[in-house]
Amino acid sequence: MIQEILVEERALGYKLTRQVLSRASVTIKEIPTYEDYPFPFRPWPELLSWGKRRLFLLRYQGRFFRNCPGTVRYLCCGYRIFHFGEGCPLDCSYCILQAYLNRPGLKLWANLWEEGWPELEAALREACQRGQVLRVGTGEFADSLALEPLCGVAEELARRFVEMEAPAVLELKTKVALSEKWLSRLPKSPRIILSWSLNTERMSCEEEQGAAPLLERLSSAARAAREGFSVAFHFDPLILYPETPEDYLPVVDQVFQLVAAERIVWISLGTLRFIPDLKEIAEDRFPETRIFCGEFITGLDGKRRYFRPLRVAAYRKIFQRIKEHAPEVCVYLCMESPEVWREAFGFTPQERGGLPRMLDEAARRVCDLRPLSGNPE
Ligand code: SF4
Repeated sequence: MIQEILVEERALGYKLTRQVLSRASVTIKEIPTYEDYPFPFRPWPELLSWGKRRLFLLRYQGRFFRNCPGTVRYLCCGYRIFHFGEGCPLDCSYCILQAYLNRPGLKLWANLWEEGWPELEAALREACQRGQVLRVGTGEFADSLALEPLCGVAEELARRFVEMEAPAVLELKTKVALSEKWLSRLPKSPRIILSWSLNTERMSCEEEQGAAPLLERLSSAARAAREGFSVAFHFDPLILYPETPEDYLPVVDQVFQLVAAERIVWISLGTLRFIPDLKEIAEDRFPETRIFCGEFITGLDGKRRYFRPLRVAAYRKIFQRIKEHAPEVCVYLCMESPEVWREAFGFTPQERGGLPRMLDEAARRVCDLRPLSGNPE
């Protein structure tokens, strides 16, 4: 998919740059800086498509380890992010990054290991001292594994993470299938959570270009679970069309037919939500899509959402089906209010100590965290 790799002069010499260049089989160019790069003069939707095929290696100057931006006025899960790059070679019509990021191209931070890892390492040490659970992910501004064959970031990160022996879990969130060979190189630890965003077969085919078919994602999850990793699933975004949520129920059934429930650390549900700018960009880039045609309200965070009764009805049915299969699996809503939790699930996170605590407890149970001792293996 990638046609060109562009490396900033100041990014040369870093470990990640050497790694990517040694694996690359496409044209490589050196550029003075990303900021000064002469991007083609095209409308933003076209520039986005252009950027999907170009990988930039940059020296990043911001914070690598940070809180998930979450949302205002809805419940967040207290997730932490290890920020390894931005952009994704896959192309989902609903991808928020199309409107959220304002600079084109796939970007990897060349100085990740030299300057980024120490930030995470310090947080892991602190978690060890305090015995507090740390939930870390890399899939907020990128797919955690889509560029893995080229960059190897997830593999190296998993190795370093497990060596730290902290009460922490690393979630690698993706829509790609895993190769057996890659999986065999990862340290087999329940503290590594391999997680997949799931949708119906129809939505996966129509709206998620470049992503693995549903069955391949589930087969990868089944293999990961068998090999001792923890796994998670995110039904997000649920796209509500007339048959919904009935179309999602067989997907839930398939999850539990293929994957051992005791290896599933959590399952999240979230309906389609988007900032107003996204609709125009996405409809320009994906003229066939109909997902933005429904009726939406503007939520308290300024994002468009389906009407509350529609969201609640979908969450309730999917939640009930999950619980029929596995009453113990932690299910949570992404960016919803306590009222929606109560209507859909019959309880609010506050009644269970708060959403972060619910997830920490799920991690302790499934990922076998032992706060102040050694590697769970
Ligand atoms: S996989 Fe995720 S990051 Fe990549 S295009 Fe789809 S929604 Fe965006």
